Amino acid sequence: MAAENSFDLLKPLQNQKALVTGASSGIGEACAKALAAAGAAVAVNYVSHRETADRVVADIRAGGGEAIAVHADVSDEGEVQAMFAEATKAFGTLDILVNNAGLQQDAAFEEMTLQQWQTVIGVNLTGQFLCAREAVREFLRRGVVPATSSAAGKIICMSSVHEVIPWGGHVNYASSKGGVMQLMKSMAQELAPKKIRVNSVAPGAIRTPINRSAWDTPEALAALLKLIPDQRIGEPEDIARTVVWLASDLSDYVTGATLFVDGGMTLYPGFATGG
Ligand code: NAD
Repeated sequence: MAAENSFDLLKPLQNQKALVTGASSGIGEACAKALAAAGAAVAVNYVSHRETADRVVADIRAGGGEAIAVHADVSDEGEVQAMFAEATKAFGTLDILVNNAGLQQDAAFEEMTLQQWQTVIGVNLTGQFLCAREAVREFLRRGVVPATSSAAGKIICMSSVHEVIPWGGHVNYASSKGGVMQLMKSMAQELAPKKIRVNSVAPGAIRTPINRSAWDTPEALAALLKLIPDQRIGEPEDIARTVVWLASDLSDYVTGATLFVDGGMTLYPGFATGG
């Protein structure tokens, strides 16, 4: 019974094994480091530039944590299967997947190519499906180990405020995140009886390479802050702390939820003074 558990609040993920996709930069890097700080061994996925993942692994090990770098393009079924085989061989099993890898390829709607559409859907949506399916197969194979966690496994999908806010000029991206919402909820519904929890974190504007043009000049930042009631841009650690909570038994009764971590961006800020 989860309610009777005593939690180590400093190391709530002690003895757990995690895989974070797209973990060599931005939000994924912060998640990998936070999960490691919370006690998990972490497989740090990268798609190119191995040295960027090696740097994250070295940082985690320098802090006393356990980590390995694992390669895969998350949109490639064979590479995803090979990555999960490598991570489970190294760690013995997996308890946590953070489905974080994502990208943008923006274009005006009438100019968007099929390639731009398929690349974004392939990584942001199909990639989450492929990784979640491999994780679930391992969770079901192993089952619940009560000494480790009251769940057989936990999946955290990195969504976006654009799972609900339409985004002109980015219809491929918004469609991929809308898809992630139903992927997450449908998995959560189907897998809850098997003690697998699936949730999403939906970041607002977070200071990472993916959206550099939205914050790296004073003018861009001022325009961005008009959309954020909290009046600050988010940092990757804002997301990572939420991911640790969702990965731990502290959130044991939470499944099928999207936690918006957005400084109020989804609160229709224009209505604070208008409407
Ligand atoms: P980022 O560009 O630093 O991180 C994206 C990561 O995904 C990179 O490490 C990249 O190498 C990796 N990646 C891209 N294609 C891949 C593939 N085919 N296989 C494996 N990895 C791949 O940007 P970020 O902001 O840290 O983005 C992380 C996630 O957060 C994304 O899913 C993004 O949509 C989401 N997000 C970000 C923001 C934001 O404001 N930064 C807001 C909402 C959602």
